[in-house]
Amino acid sequence: MNTAPRPLVDRFGRVHTDLRVSLTDRCNLRCTYCMPAEGLDWLPRDGVLGDDEVVRLVRIAVERLGVASVRLTGGEPLLRRGLTGLVARLAALGVDLSLTTNGIGLARTAVGLREAGLGRVNVSLDTLRPERFAAITRRDRLADVLAGLAAAKAAGLGPVKVNAVPVRGTNEDEIVPLAEFAVEHGYRMRFIESMPLDAQGAWDRTAMVTAQEILAALGKRFDLVPVGRHGSAPAEEWRIAGTDAVVGVIASVTRPFCGGCDRVRLTADGQLRNCLFATEESDLRALLRGGADDAAVEAAWRASVAGKGPGHAIGSAEFVRPDRPMSAIGG
Ligand code: SAM
Ligand code: SF4
Repeated sequence: MNTAPRPLVDRFGRVHTDLRVSLTDRCNLRCTYCMPAEGLDWLPRDGVLGDDEVVRLVRIAVERLGVASVRLTGGEPLLRRGLTGLVARLAALGVDLSLTTNGIGLARTAVGLREAGLGRVNVSLDTLRPERFAAITRRDRLADVLAGLAAAKAAGLGPVKVNAVPVRGTNEDEIVPLAEFAVEHGYRMRFIESMPLDAQGAWDRTAMVTAQEILAALGKRFDLVPVGRHGSAPAEEWRIAGTDAVVGVIASVTRPFCGGCDRVRLTADGQLRNCLFATEESDLRALLRGGADDAAVEAAWRASVAGKGPGHAIGSAEFVRPDRPMSAIGG
């Protein structure tokens, strides 16, 4: 197609240029704030979009809808077979391509992913203590994650961001140690407020460590200079005075950023979600497999975004938990 894309605008005037693509709902960890210890059903394999389907949808998003950045996620996206080949095909579409991962396997794959055209990675890491890591994720894999982080940096997949979800009584005493670790290694630390998106429905607001608490802890150790928020980015950032290091807080619950949201999400089984907290999805997989042309897929995509609400209402009486957990939506 040679015509310029027409922006993907909703009824509040928000322009959507960022797409999260979940490549699988499976994972090799079982983080307590995300999944139950066992008993979570995976999507059937033939229900998951194949590489050609993912590439086609991303191409439509880029060529017709003006999507400029794509983040691959899951579940654990490094578990996707043939990931490097898929990354190469997506990078060839000219998008800014990044990946969110738990880091396991990254030591082996970082160079190949970089060469295939991946731009950056975010790696999740909630603790620096091996025993605590095993308790939070129910797997004893801290060393693999640390090796993955180092490999990502060495491969040039930077700036490497480290995502942590502080939970009261679990790891909130590591907010400062994690930030120090990130400063020492040249990673960008980001703390995420825990959200009611765990598969087991056990989220408890009182266990969530708020942005205010996170900043209070950091403020006791560092002089923080506000950098603000870049465009529609979810993280508010602070520079640590006297250094180049930046720390961020993603306060989805206590300081929602829905007003500037520029994001849509595609689940591994080809359902388009106009919000992390959406309760409805648009079935793009059915369109693809039913033989729809690009124009029909584009129309469905626009209709989904046109129906996007103003924002989530976590904490209010109106809030409805989405049917799918974060691991199946694509975090
Ligand atoms: N497996 C990859 C990982 O862990 O980075 C990608 C998927 S994971 C669902 C994406 C991000 O969501 C991770 O940074 C994880 O910490 C975060 N996450 C998962 N459950 C969450 C929850 N209930 N509240 C806030 N963040 C959550
Ligand atoms: Fe897996 Fe990521 Fe969920 Fe942890 S947060 S269980 S690594 S999908």
